[in-house]
Amino acid sequence: VNNIKANGNKFADSILEWYSKYGRTSLPWQSNINAYRVWISEIMLQQTQVKTVIPYYERFMKRFPDVCSLSQANLDGVLALWSGLGYYQRGRNLYYSAKIITENYGGKLPNTVEELMTLPGIGRSTASAITSIVLNLPTPILDGNVKRVLTRFFMIEGYLGQSQVNKLLWQKAEELMPGTNCAKYTQAIMDIGSMLCTRTKPICNQCPLQSDCSAHKNNKTADFPYKKPKKPLPQKSCVFVILADAYNKVMLIKRPPKGIWGGLWCLPMIEPQCGINIELRKSFKLESNKHHTILKLTHKFSHFELAIKVISITNKSQNVLMSDSIKRRWVSIEDLPNLGIAKPVMTSLLTYFDKEVLV
Ligand code: SF4
Repeated sequence: VNNIKANGNKFADSILEWYSKYGRTSLPWQSNINAYRVWISEIMLQQTQVKTVIPYYERFMKRFPDVCSLSQANLDGVLALWSGLGYYQRGRNLYYSAKIITENYGGKLPNTVEELMTLPGIGRSTASAITSIVLNLPTPILDGNVKRVLTRFFMIEGYLGQSQVNKLLWQKAEELMPGTNCAKYTQAIMDIGSMLCTRTKPICNQCPLQSDCSAHKNNKTADFPYKKPKKPLPQKSCVFVILADAYNKVMLIKRPPKGIWGGLWCLPMIEPQCGINIELRKSFKLESNKHHTILKLTHKFSHFELAIKVISITNKSQNVLMSDSIKRRWVSIEDLPNLGIAKPVMTSLLTYFDKEVLV
């Protein structure tokens, strides 16, 4: 860092110059820049790649072009547009934050990092991205991409997520942040991380930082950031039950707001330990052994892996559970696009409806 300071901010100058030639400037959230548009993009981009985000972002903006429209939506409508993007807590937090912004800030996002950080789902890096990109303030960001760049550039030892590593990375991020061109610098360092300093095989020969980058100079890019030895995820299992009525509508149940798939529509679930038939009797009063397995899949959560068996009940029992439209409803294939549905549930439903059509 001393070296860099002695040369002025060579780090920032190099990446700004690179950005002016090679940086991305036509992503959807880079036009008509305002705090709302940047906020939504930053949240969608967490743990998700740019090319996956683009269609989701465009659909979201069409339906909810501003804080006001988002705050007046219902959560189902928001989650429907989030379906398939994963990490649904992000979608719920956007919705809750929009309500707070409307009530407490007259519909305008607050303009300090501290105030932004009081909103659900906005951490320091996201808040700083909003203030630097929209207001051109020297507030450094530290998302996954930037962490990778800095860890390699300085050969920072230790695991990402360790508090002393995190502290050091924030300190470096602050030291390197230029006082001018802040918006461009933020975009530039994000682009370096996602376009050049990639997780595997970074493209150092095109990187404007290569002459000062410690990991590159020492031929150690593959060693940084340190990789935490992965513990195998605990395994759990469950059974999704497809209950169809005589009109081939399928029962969905709304998950409680907190916990896995919170607030999303899900197939009724049973735990198979006691035997499927016993569980079916207990949970749905179904005297049926006429179920068959239509699909088996696994779904990874951050803290466990779920093995899912999907069964359908063939005796078409009606009135097993009455629809109450808030927590339970019978849905047809046409209803699916309007509901917030978790990915494995959607996969199960599409497989089921496909088979039904073929039969
Ligand atoms: S030189 Fe290589 S390792 Fe260093 S910042 Fe650039 S891409 Fe990353």
